[in-house]
Amino acid sequence: MVNVRIYPLALAKILKHSASFSGIEVAGVLIGKLSGNVIEISDSDTGPQIGTSGHVKLAPTVAPLIAEKIEKQGRGEYIVGWYHSHPGFGCFLSSIDVETQVGLQKMFSQCVALVVDPHDYIMSGRPSDAEVKMFQVQEDKVVSLEYEVLLEKDKLIRNLIDYLERGEEPYSTALDRIRLEVYEWNRKLEEKVNVATEGIEQIREELKSISNILKQDKQPSKV
Ligand SMILES: [Zn+2]
Repeated sequence: MVNVRIYPLALAKILKHSASFSGIEVAGVLIGKLSGNVIEISDSDTGPQIGTSGHVKLAPTVAPLIAEKIEKQGRGEYIVGWYHSHPGFGCFLSSIDVETQVGLQKMFSQCVALVVDPHDYIMSGRPSDAEVKMFQVQEDKVVSLEYEVLLEKDKLIRNLIDYLERGEEPYSTALDRIRLEVYEWNRKLEEKVNVATEGIEQIREELKSISNILKQDKQPSKV
């Protein structure tokens, strides 16, 4: 039985977001609705967050702002879950993830936790190589949900048209760009520090040999 259907647009945005930060975790929310007992995820969104290689935390304002935005769009959709990445260490729910998920399921019992590991996708460039899993906590146990990627042509095209009509740059794109710039600066700064350290090391060696020469000069000549 399929529990979840996800549209390519939502999946593409999640893959792009997680692959832009291959060494650190990223997170965001899943947007969609409950259709009978199937959760349909049509889109995803994100906002300011702090991530490390093993942890990520969304700013507390992110979900309320996105919820407000979706409501204004009047498409009868809402936040149906959250996503986060596990760069290079596989898809599962850690104990902190379980805690978060249990808290969220208290507010929305069908809340989905999507975990993505973009490592293999980054290496091969093939989206299908990314590991994507969805979870819920049922009776104190983590359950992996069956899902399918919705490939109905009409729905796919309508979804993309809707997205294009909204005409806005996704928040995540602007944020990604800023964060990539910060990373680039850090990398350049690190290179400069390395070059400077090497330079200092060279000067130190030269000073050592000069002082050796001076010492030798001071020794009385035996001739
Ligand atoms: Zn996690």
